[in-house]
Amino acid sequence: MFTADAHCDALYRIAIEGCPPSECAVAPERLRSGGMGVQTFAMFSSLGRPDPHADGLAMLAAYRALPLPRLDGALPDLPPEDPCAILSMEGGEILRGELSSLDEFPGLRLIALTWNYENEIGTPAAKNACDGLKPFGFQLLREMDRRGIAADVSHLNEAGFWDVMERASVAPLASHSNCRWLCDVPRNLTRAQVRALIERRGFIGVNFYTEFLAQGRKAVIEDVANHIDAICELGGEEIVGFGSDFDGIESWPDGLASPADFPALLDLLRRRGYSDGQLRNIAGRNYWRFLKGAEAHA
Ligand SMILES: [Zn+2]
Repeated sequence: MFTADAHCDALYRIAIEGCPPSECAVAPERLRSGGMGVQTFAMFSSLGRPDPHADGLAMLAAYRALPLPRLDGALPDLPPEDPCAILSMEGGEILRGELSSLDEFPGLRLIALTWNYENEIGTPAAKNACDGLKPFGFQLLREMDRRGIAADVSHLNEAGFWDVMERASVAPLASHSNCRWLCDVPRNLTRAQVRALIERRGFIGVNFYTEFLAQGRKAVIEDVANHIDAICELGGEEIVGFGSDFDGIESWPDGLASPADFPALLDLLRRRGYSDGQLRNIAGRNYWRFLKGAEAHA
């Protein structure tokens, strides 16, 4: 079954920490054994680093050296059967406040506008809920719309989220965020935010980090299914999928340690009563449709 993942941090591990691709959670071999079709690789940096822009270029080089085919140009009509890589950015400070920086990252399809630091674009949920996008943030959104690059609201605060919903014409996504009403942390989405993403035909990738899945205990794989159920209960079965956050998280449910474990998660969802069609959508077709929609906008 075509399976896709909207977020991992393997490029940071490879380019910044020196980890060989074969030792990442998202190793090519594990992508193959999990039956993955699309793995999104984020260039992650932040103002906690000496030079986020230089980090971005180093991660771009690591992306291009991955032993996987890359989908950097026009997407094929049908989703790929063997693992392919696509490029995203996490932490808009990599662009250092210049729209022209986008030219340096061809193939880029998603930008998480902030990580956990306030930058030239906006303010993260980790800081406050009330400060909206900044002037450069609005300029950047217009340019992303022109290029068919989607705004990723994972990490962004609530005021920034609503600015994106109102102003972005390419449908936005939350590449790796969960339901706040099941796990009350600022990184997760409220019901109103999930409903807004459904309304916009955006995308939500459920995150496997235990602290975003369950509170006060170690999460289990059933918690991942609970967050998917909760999004579907609000009407989101055509916009929900996976945003594992592999290689960026230090704890995950037992039995869900790498892409090789996706089939076990899909089996669990099947046992919960999802039909074949619903499973195919959640496994990857929702994300594929989302990517094709952003591309069609360019
Ligand atoms: Zn993240």
